[in-house]
Amino acid sequence: KHRQKQRQFAVIGLGRFGGSVCKELFAQGHEVLAIDINEDKAREFSAFATHSVQLDTTDEGALKNIGIRNFEHVVVAIGDHIQASILTTLLLKELGIEKVWVKAQNTYHQKVLDKLGADLVVHPEFDMGKRIAHKMTSDKVIDFIDLEDDYSIVELYATKKIDGQSLATLNMRAIYGVTVLAIKKDKKMNIAPRPDIEIEENDLLIVMGHKNDLTRFEKDGL
Ligand code: ATP
Ligand code: ATP
Ligand code: CA
Repeated sequence: KHRQKQRQFAVIGLGRFGGSVCKELFAQGHEVLAIDINEDKAREFSAFATHSVQLDTTDEGALKNIGIRNFEHVVVAIGDHIQASILTTLLLKELGIEKVWVKAQNTYHQKVLDKLGADLVVHPEFDMGKRIAHKMTSDKVIDFIDLEDDYSIVELYATKKIDGQSLATLNMRAIYGVTVLAIKKDKKMNIAPRPDIEIEENDLLIVMGHKNDLTRFEKDGL
């Protein structure tokens, strides 16, 4: 187990998404306060959180009373009640919570949350749908992270086609405009691969570049 600094987390809204966030944090040994307007939900989560309370988080006084200001990181997962989600986010930012991460229900909701100063807005159904589509269209891409402006980091397995070649001979930077950030061989991660390192089939390559260039590399280079 990794030793991690104990941080104070709160999760508001204990539906499938918020409930899963809460349980995972708690399972990792973190202190988590679980909050829901629904009494039964709050009771259910007393087993999966350090504390759980029944509370309408659109009530500023109630939020202050539970000392929400002491929490550094709050997740707002009030799904269908967009108005409550927006008001809760506004109050949390006004109260000076450092990190407020919010689950959005649709793109309009997402835009409003961004304007209110939400520190991260996630849209799980939308994001997961994109991930799945990526996985369906490429059997080489293991995983990916979208960065700004159409840049991504992808994980790919080295194919037979490049087995035995070095980064220098592959010359990917010049040919495709992509950069190998790291190479994983037999569970050993090398985060500073030298140009002469020999790539073997099934090495995991972590590659960064523009989406179009990554697609070209994946199709023609691998
Ligand atoms: P799922 O993740 O399952 O799709 P969801 O994100 O669609 O769920 P809902 O089930 O709509 O979310 O709501 C999440 C939780 O938020 C519910 O348990 C609900 O009781 C709670 N909730 C709604 N309004 C408030 C509020 N004002 N204050 C606190 N909790 C609230
Ligand atoms: P979200 O991802 O937005 O949470 P969801 O998973 O809750 O969506 P629904 O909106 O309930 O999904 O349904 C998804 C789609 O499946 C709808 O457009 C619906 O019309 C369609 N659908 C439902 N039943 C059938 C069926 N028997 N055959 C074909 N399509 C269906
Ligand atoms: Ca939902």
